[in-house]
Amino acid sequence: MTIRCTVCGKAFAVAKWNEAYERLRQHQTEPYVCDTCQARIRREAQDEAFPR
Ligand SMILES: [Zn+2]
Repeated sequence: MTIRCTVCGKAFAVAKWNEAYERLRQHQTEPYVCDTCQARIRREAQDEAFPR
């Protein structure tokens, strides 16, 4: 199965044995954000909360 990150548009292959496979398969209509983008969004949110 391949899922696409809604933020960067990068496609990710999810193997059947991946622990997230079942969850992702059942929520394929929901937007997926990859780990890299999630980390970036978190960091940006922190920067906004605590401007330097
Ligand atoms: Zn991404």
